[in-house]
Amino acid sequence: MARDNASFSQKRWSLTELFPEPDGPAMHGALEELEQRTAAFETLRPQLTPDLSPGTLLDMLLNIEAIALLSHRLYGYAGLMFAEDTQSQAVQGLVARMDQLEAQISNRILFFSLWWKSLDEENAARLMLYAGEFRYWLEEMRHFKPYTLSEVEEKVINLKDVTGVSAWHTLYDAITNRYAFKLKVDGRTQQLTRGEISVYFRHHDPDLRARAYRELYRVFAEDSTILGHVYQTLVRDWRNEQIDLRGFASPMSVRNLGNDIPDTVVDTLLDVCRQNAPLYQRFFRLKAAWLGVNRLRRYDVYAPVTKADKSYEFADAVDMVLDAFGGFDRQLADMARQVLQADHLDGQVRKGKRSGAFCWSVAPRLMPWVLVNYQGRPYDVSTLAHELGHAVHGIIASHHSILTHHAALPLAETASTFGEMLLVERLLGEESDPSVRHDMLFNQVDDTYATIQRQAFFALFERQAHDMVQQGSSVDDIATAYLDNLRSQFGDAVDVSEEFRWEWVSIPHIYHTPFYVYAYAFGQLLVLSLYRQYRKEGEAFKPRYLGILGAGGADSPAHILGAAGIDISQAEFWQGGFDVVREMIEQLEAIPVGNGE
Ligand SMILES: [Zn+2]
Repeated sequence: MARDNASFSQKRWSLTELFPEPDGPAMHGALEELEQRTAAFETLRPQLTPDLSPGTLLDMLLNIEAIALLSHRLYGYAGLMFAEDTQSQAVQGLVARMDQLEAQISNRILFFSLWWKSLDEENAARLMLYAGEFRYWLEEMRHFKPYTLSEVEEKVINLKDVTGVSAWHTLYDAITNRYAFKLKVDGRTQQLTRGEISVYFRHHDPDLRARAYRELYRVFAEDSTILGHVYQTLVRDWRNEQIDLRGFASPMSVRNLGNDIPDTVVDTLLDVCRQNAPLYQRFFRLKAAWLGVNRLRRYDVYAPVTKADKSYEFADAVDMVLDAFGGFDRQLADMARQVLQADHLDGQVRKGKRSGAFCWSVAPRLMPWVLVNYQGRPYDVSTLAHELGHAVHGIIASHHSILTHHAALPLAETASTFGEMLLVERLLGEESDPSVRHDMLFNQVDDTYATIQRQAFFALFERQAHDMVQQGSSVDDIATAYLDNLRSQFGDAVDVSEEFRWEWVSIPHIYHTPFYVYAYAFGQLLVLSLYRQYRKEGEAFKPRYLGILGAGGADSPAHILGAAGIDISQAEFWQGGFDVVREMIEQLEAIPVGNGE
């Protein structure tokens, strides 16, 4: 591919497409329009009767859509500004105001969803026939019917959440994003952000890896009392609201219903993951042999097996990702390129910037925004492919309404993970240096470990932690349970040292979105089996795959995948994903240890 991407430098993104500045005339205009539209919508309330006409319903839905577009725009702007600089007090103020506004607006239009959920089956079915694009959105809302409280109660919960869970989330982010980590590298002590110190987990020097991990958890452990307390509070809030008030069967069922995945499917998925613990243990033993040690330490899980210290310039990384996407389908590369051309990618590393990476599709017709902390490692290139994969998903589904645009969590990782697979395939295709090739093959299994097994065991831990908090367990008890979880995952193949007991307080997902993590395992196992089908079927596979992405969130995961010939209720389907991992491991076992060093 021609170097037409050379102009893509590593810079801060531009948010001007949302608003040119905070609190300027454009933002005030949007706030005003939001107020007017919401007020107008409120006047429609008397029309909500069981004999409502399909035309009136559609008008109302279009109104809700317009309100959602405006509020997502405002909220997205504040959120993206916060990610760009988590330490700015002005931005923190803006986020707080937008949180407040969002809660107020959803309270004012809440009567619609409450009415819709209370409507009798017959009339709901009658109206859904004409709902078109909005059908699944309406259908899904009714799933929550048995768990919905009165309007007054719902309003109180929304309002109290602003100074409750939302405030706890912001506090957790503010505390943990401020951390600075000290690490001696080449005789010089450096001050590092979390993103920067994490790079050393993949360093070839075993001592440096160990010191990086110890420093990370030293800092988190110092605040373990307060971070553990934040977690206990969030978990209690979750139970008080979801189980005691709403009547969900278990803390995880809440997420499952939100994902529209039956509890039994998630249980099957997690059982299959647990049963495959020996498979990864086998991989870690192989890795120990390659590293020349008797037993792997937890510090070595992501260690490179060779000293292929490859580093990639940002512009080259962009080229490789676009090229990999284009090798599958040209439109995928075009879409990813548009994100960069629109200046929607923040690739810099800056203190105070949010660590990690994400893609945020603010609205269907706006190019998604992507944040990465790019540092040139092969891992960073994969992350770039991952997040741009998300962006492509958002763009392919951009013909949907803002209400049905986003794929449910379990499908939300499809394009991102598939994008990573395409990248690896492309890199393996052109790499002739055996040492780099072996490193990449090992990396590929490392990645499946990080997305499948690690996340599945987080979910198993969360399930246990939610029960423990309810039984009044202390933060230390939870930490011990976490360590036990790790030791059952790694068996005798990996030596897990004590400081890893504090790993869980460093995982934002379990604070922000309980049980989110199993979606990663779901997505990766799904993609492994999809990728196998792609290899087998070639061109014929593409429309089925693009169909899954194009569906966005306009139908349930089971239907979207069912249409592509996949049955997620079967344990065999999930085991099929692990079989692909087993084949990768067998491929590695066939190489004489240390060959190519
Ligand atoms: Zn992702």
